[in-house]
Amino acid sequence: MTNESQKVWFLTGSQELYGPDVLTQVAAQSQVVVRLLNASGDTPIDILWKPVLTGADAIRRACLDATADDSCIGVIAWMHTFSPAKAWIGGLTSLAKPLLHLHTQASLELPWSTIDMDYMNLNQAAHGDREFAFMETRLRMNRVTVSGHASNPAVTARIGTWARACVGWAEARSLKVARFGDNMRDVAVTEGDKVEAQIRLGVSVNGFGLTDLVHEVDTADASSVDELIALYEEQYDVAPELRRQGDRHDSLRYAASIELGLRSLLTRGGFRAFTTNFEDLAGLRQLPGLAVQRLMADGYGFGGEGDWKSAVLLRIIKAMGEGLPGGTSFMEDYTYHLGPGTPQVLGAHMLEVCPSITSDVPRLEIHPLSIGGREDPVRMVFTAAPGPAVVIGMSDLGDRFRLVANAIDVVVPPEQLPRLPVAHAVWEPRPDFVVATEGWLYAGGPHHTVLTTAVPVQALRDFAEIADIELVLIDEETRLDQLRDRLRWDAAYFRLRQGL
Ligand code: MN
Repeated sequence: MTNESQKVWFLTGSQELYGPDVLTQVAAQSQVVVRLLNASGDTPIDILWKPVLTGADAIRRACLDATADDSCIGVIAWMHTFSPAKAWIGGLTSLAKPLLHLHTQASLELPWSTIDMDYMNLNQAAHGDREFAFMETRLRMNRVTVSGHASNPAVTARIGTWARACVGWAEARSLKVARFGDNMRDVAVTEGDKVEAQIRLGVSVNGFGLTDLVHEVDTADASSVDELIALYEEQYDVAPELRRQGDRHDSLRYAASIELGLRSLLTRGGFRAFTTNFEDLAGLRQLPGLAVQRLMADGYGFGGEGDWKSAVLLRIIKAMGEGLPGGTSFMEDYTYHLGPGTPQVLGAHMLEVCPSITSDVPRLEIHPLSIGGREDPVRMVFTAAPGPAVVIGMSDLGDRFRLVANAIDVVVPPEQLPRLPVAHAVWEPRPDFVVATEGWLYAGGPHHTVLTTAVPVQALRDFAEIADIELVLIDEETRLDQLRDRLRWDAAYFRLRQGL
């Protein structure tokens, strides 16, 4: 699902005052900076150098062009020399793309024995960037600021992380979500304002009748089903009863038909995320399990029980993590181990956990669902691989969306779980179980989350900054009293920020 044409634009600020020779040097040196950033390999998309900007008209034009160009998903700005910031007002007020202010300098070392005023006038980002940052601040602009030389791996990594947040933002702006069935009856946290979500994030969330899906499933081509079954047998450890000669092979064929039907509808409609609801399956004989798991593995966003906010979040975070090691899945806080030893969370769902978070070969099994009153659904069963991760969920607080994230450590389950017939993850939340769970509850975080071992917390912070959305992070630094204060301050800040 990558978009090869996506670029981040690099704008260099200067002014005419210095004369053409200096401006030629500014152009050459800013191209070197861009080459260093691109050569680092830390940025998932190319950074595109743009000619040096020396006046208000050119600045405004560059910012309008960046805003209008769909392939431009973010802008990096650097004031190599002084660039009077009144010249940036017209541009910055018309810029509607994520902004990173790179506070850098062409040369690393000061040439102590030869430095003269020409050198000083050329290399003056130290105060040129302060002038620019004043204007960013005066205009109340959301942005990420990164300081340091472009040859420093910490700098290129930081820019790469922000660029991933830009990919997530671009994804949100064009994301279409198909809801098959409505929200699970009476459930509150999975509800939300879809119009507000489109205003804030750009996502378009709409409902579709189950009859279309059922029709696609019932008319799935038999030879395509055969091909999928062969693929399942190659990729997974298929239970004997589901294999070609097995008693329940028909159930696997039906699961494959669901996958074909869902894929066909999602592809045709240009949807990259979807929801289902076990209460509303119309003529579907099984709750989609295996199909949802395989679609998530291919990058689709998903939320169970009509939870479109989780579907949106999952697709955005999958887009941000593309190409990184690890995986990203729909998840639900299910049950706890409260002791002896370190308390642990057992996360799972009825069926729908993405195999990108395991290093095992998933087993394909069939078991009763015990709710929903349909035929037994086929599902992949596996255990998530251990390692650091984040769980993140989105709540609609009525006046705004809030993201709640918790840094966690996925662990190897202390014992086998031979009778648990669903994919699962066991983790220990940071800083500890009490602060993490009490903090999550005070924040009103949902039970459905996205678990990612691919995308770092910093990228989620950058995404929240770009989207201008609240992010409550619970990690090793969190203290409960401070978190509770922060929640109160956030309530005031976001209410004020929204205006009347
Ligand atoms: Mn659920």
